[in-house]
Amino acid sequence: MDDGSLPALARLRADGGSHVVTSAFPSVTGPAYAPFLLGRYPGPVGLPALRWYDRARTQAAFPHRTRSYVGHEMRHVDRDLDAGSPTLFELAQPAIGALSVITRGLGRGQRLGNDLRFAVRAARTHFSGNVEGWLAIDRSIGAEVARRIRSERPRFVFAALTGIDKTSHAEGHDQGTVRAAMRIVDDVAAEIRHDAERDGSWDRTHLWIVSDHGHSPVREHEDLVRLVRSFGHRTMAHPWVLRVRPEVAVMVSGNAMAHLYLELGSRERPWWPALAARWQPLVDALLERPSVDIALLPESPTRCAVLGRGRGRATITLATDHEGRPRYSYQPETGDPLALGVLRCAGADEAWEATIDSDYPDAIVQIAHLAGSARAGEIVLSASREWDFRARFEPIPHLSSHGALHREHMLVPLVMNQPAAGKPRRTVDVMPSALDVLGITTTARFDGESFL
Ligand SMILES: [Zn+2]
Repeated sequence: MDDGSLPALARLRADGGSHVVTSAFPSVTGPAYAPFLLGRYPGPVGLPALRWYDRARTQAAFPHRTRSYVGHEMRHVDRDLDAGSPTLFELAQPAIGALSVITRGLGRGQRLGNDLRFAVRAARTHFSGNVEGWLAIDRSIGAEVARRIRSERPRFVFAALTGIDKTSHAEGHDQGTVRAAMRIVDDVAAEIRHDAERDGSWDRTHLWIVSDHGHSPVREHEDLVRLVRSFGHRTMAHPWVLRVRPEVAVMVSGNAMAHLYLELGSRERPWWPALAARWQPLVDALLERPSVDIALLPESPTRCAVLGRGRGRATITLATDHEGRPRYSYQPETGDPLALGVLRCAGADEAWEATIDSDYPDAIVQIAHLAGSARAGEIVLSASREWDFRARFEPIPHLSSHGALHREHMLVPLVMNQPAAGKPRRTVDVMPSALDVLGITTTARFDGESFL
């Protein structure tokens, strides 16, 4: 924006403003859409990651009981989500969604890029590693979104342009193709604005440009599955999830985070420290690897141990005050792995302010909600800088990754064409704010707060 490469976005920023907000953990497409479209953190609504193990055996099919939203299982996302949390599509009709992983509430004709022809084209582009193909997809989706807005004037539109992410993975996020992908976003914003100005609707149109995660360079890949196997455990992991008597399900996302599920035969979630008798050696071994920055060991739905490689251990606890609002605590014990000092019974805003300038923005809140959620793993890993956890089976080599708790992955832009009244902090604030703009009231509970 500053060097004039993205003039339409720069104009939006000048009119309304630009904010840096935090995404959710895991900072991965799919789970990180839940804040935008449900106003909720991903873990508690049932999307703990891009890949997960269905311990309760309620969602994923026999025999492997795993889920991967990479590929054809993406069609299960809507059903995997908490039925009690309405989507913005359900609340704000008529709506259109383009390239959205979450589509609950959209009729057939309201989904762009979800038809079979498109899916075949996207799959071919993905598996051939055709980077230019992703830009072509963004251009055609962007043009279609602008056309539908022009002709139908829907109440709400959610359009995901995925080229920035795809090109960043393939070539590194500072490369020319990534800039080309950003210019497509700029072009689409320009076209939507131009059309709205011409028909006199721009003053009451809210156009927000956001992202679900950042990116940072990867130089080394830890083959987490082989590593766990080398410690003597039978593993299951994508794409080969059919295994005889597996002991550890290794579910990598982004690819800079992973859930490891233990005691796979139990439908009830096991907790630490009871798991230590059998599994502490695995945790200790993982924490010796340069690839592992943080290991989370959930102890109950409201309590989680945080271990930093070489930085000791702390505990995060989640409580509620007498009005039912969440309160977050962070207590260093043998060390201060997040380098935050003590935080006691902080509200959500205070917990955000206490962490936003650190290496782990909003980590206390994000860890509290993910680690305690029913579908999370027994060991949750966040990768060190320049590392990720998947060395094989990617159609294109990952030169850049995301998913971790680092600020490069967690901080995202929010550019708006009209000023915010309050302070935008998190991507979960976006949906309650959108409902405010649209004048929609609901009794549904949100994790975020309106900034308008
Ligand atoms: Zn990605």
